[in-house]
This record gives sequence, structure tokens and C-alpha cells, in this order.
Amino acid sequence: MAFEGDYLGFFRESLEKLREEGNYRVFANLERRSDSFPHAKRHTENGEEDVLVWCSNDYLGIGQDSRVREAMIETIKAQGAGAGGTRNISGTNRLHGELERQLASLHGKEAALLFTSGYVANLTALSTLASRLPGCIVYSDSENHNSMIEGIRQGRSDKRVFRHNDPAHLDELMAADDPSRPKIVAFESVYSMDGDISPISEILDVAEKYNAISFLDEVHAVGMYGEHGAGVAERDGVMDRVDILQGTLGKAFGVIGGYIAAKAELIDFVRSFGNPFIFTTALPPAIAAGALKAIEILRDAKDIRAKHQERAATVKARLRQAGIPILPSVTHIVPVLIGDAEKCKKASDMLLNDFNIYVQPINYPTVAKGTERLRVTPTPHHDDDAVDRLINALDKVWTALDLPRTSSAQAAAE
Ligand SMILES: *Cc1c(COP(=O)(O)O)cnc(C)c1O
Repeated sequence: MAFEGDYLGFFRESLEKLREEGNYRVFANLERRSDSFPHAKRHTENGEEDVLVWCSNDYLGIGQDSRVREAMIETIKAQGAGAGGTRNISGTNRLHGELERQLASLHGKEAALLFTSGYVANLTALSTLASRLPGCIVYSDSENHNSMIEGIRQGRSDKRVFRHNDPAHLDELMAADDPSRPKIVAFESVYSMDGDISPISEILDVAEKYNAISFLDEVHAVGMYGEHGAGVAERDGVMDRVDILQGTLGKAFGVIGGYIAAKAELIDFVRSFGNPFIFTTALPPAIAAGALKAIEILRDAKDIRAKHQERAATVKARLRQAGIPILPSVTHIVPVLIGDAEKCKKASDMLLNDFNIYVQPINYPTVAKGTERLRVTPTPHHDDDAVDRLINALDKVWTALDLPRTSSAQAAAE
């Protein structure tokens, strides 16, 4: 878009173009309520409505857990609202140190480093390593999250993109490069739009073969997979082979913040050279207290994890019975395929306005055109009634919008 001396005109035109493409984002006006997860309040022109939320990333509802809330309230009473500055200026709060020790222990690593979000963790770790390791090459899965892409971009090193979940392609790319150059292989365990899982062990085989640092984003797995909720690498017994494990405190751990866990020298390196870590205010101590409590609860929460998987399996089975197409997810994420941007938005609006069910539409550029979807995330708190409500509503929406159904034969084969 050309700039013709008019700033506001430029902004308006750009937004208009976004609207025309159907990609303009409108946020639902919702308010979470203690003790009623997964229900929330919706504010409309006509007042308040109760909505059933089916797309929360508070995957286990731990952000509403009374013990987590209590830990945070007590910490605010004892220590006040904010951290008071960067860790450089205000010193490291005892709770930040304790949380880093717990995160390191959870992942079986020597050390961990906290960031203000998972996004900042990815951005900082990757940009710092890629820019400071002389001649570094970063190998990045084609489906990696924007926070990793931005980190790699800001690192300004050479970059190679390998085909999604394809260790053979990674090997091919790595074999073509100078063996003496430092290398980083960056990928995720659970990919949150399709709900697929990467072949971690095979990718690590390749990374090790070429003496690369492995960087694994477990944002959509921590709290939910593995014996202690340390993620898919724990579940698969390969956690000790991953050089850098990255996670968030904002999804299954219910609060906000991000981290990396790794060998002590690497953590100290990112702590010492990573500007988006150094020059920003530390997380409020109450956040650290809430995260500590959530991690403590989820370390031994095999029952919650089992229930989570059962709920996801139940929703998938019910959708198949109803002939509603879903992508072949192997995780707790249930991607309901619509395949059309406008209908996707319409389906989401109908669910909200006619059925008081909230599932946000996922359109391009988050997913490829033609694969627009509703991303449903069942939690252990969605009971059978909630599932019935969702399936009935989707069934009606499917009919109203004349969306294609899978044949029952096809559904049975899946
Ligand atoms: C959400 C997300 C992040 C960022 O985590 P936040 O804590 O929300 O900033 C990083 N990686 C992936 C794959 C994500 O989905």
C-alpha cells in the first residue's frame, strides 16, 4: 500500500483491505468468572449472557483453581502488586529464583530462565544464540510459531526451513552445510493448530549427528503430557537429549510468563546477552507464586491429565458420529474443519449468538487458506452436558450453513 502523506488515511486503508479479505480480527467481549470455568460472562448491547467457552488455552482450568488463586492473593498481600523493576535493577525476587529452580527440576535440567511470556522466551533465546554464535545456521520447522520465526529473523543468521515434521529433509539440509559452523534446530512438540506431534527422537537424531543445539517449544504440552507434566519429551523419554526446552506459564499453567530450561552455561549466556530479558520489568511476584502452585499441583496430576485426554477423545468420537469433519489430531486439540473463511466466521458467530457457545474462528494467515477451522479445546471441566450442547449446536450450524459432512463410512474408518 502506497503512502501519500496522510497517516490516518494509510491506517484506514490498510484496515479496510484487511476487512475485505475477511481477516480483520474482532475480539469477543468476555469476562472470566471464578469458580465457573469453563463458563464466562459475555457483555453485549443487551446486557450480560452466560457463555460456555470451548476454546480456552487454560487447558486444564488451573488458572481458576482456588489454590492457585489463594497463593497469588497471599503474595500480593505480602509483597504488593508488581516486581518494581527489571531483575538487574530491583534484584531477583526470591519467588522468581524458586520458580526457576522448580522449572529446571521439572525438565531435568541444570537451570532455567524466566521471561515475561512464552513469546519473549522464544524471541530472546533464539535471537541471542543465532546472533552471537559466529556463523550460526538455524534450521526451523515450516510450521513453527511466529515467536520462533521472529526470534530467528532478529538473530539475522542464515536460516533453513525444513518440511514440517520431516527429519529426512532436515538431514538433507544439514548435510549440505559446513560441518564446522554452529547450528540450532528449532521445532515444537505439539503443533497447536492441527494437534499433531513431532517425531522428537528422530529430529534429535539428526541434530546430534550434525552437532547442533536442539530447541524444543513445548508450550502446548507442558502440564499436560509426561509423567509429571513436563511435556512430550518427558513422555517419550527423550527430555535429557533436548538441549533447550521452552515452555509457557500462560496456557496449562494458567497464569502468564515463559521460560527456557537448559545447561547452566547456556542459561547464563542468554541471561547475560539477551536484551528482551535484561531490559524489561520482571513478572509480578504473585505470578511466580501462582505458577509455582500450578506446577506443584500438576506434577502429580495424572488423573487430571487422563481426564483431559478422555474428554478430547469423547468430543472427537461424538463429532465423527455426527459426520462433522475434524483434522486427524493425536492430541487434546480438536480442529473442526470448515475450509472457508467467511463460513468459519459465520459458524463462530452463530455458536455465540444463537447457542451461547464460544469457539473462536481460525482463519488465514494463522492457517492455510481452505483449511479454516474452529479449534475446539476440551478441558477436564467440560462435562457430558457441555459436550452435548457443543455437538447439538455444531450439528445445527452445519445444517444452517450447508457445510459438508463426512460420510459415516469415512467417519468409521478414521
Ligand atoms: C502461545 C505460543 C507461544 C507464546 O507463548 P505465550 O506465553 O502465550 O507468549 C509460543 N509458542 C507457541 C507454539 C505458542 O502457541
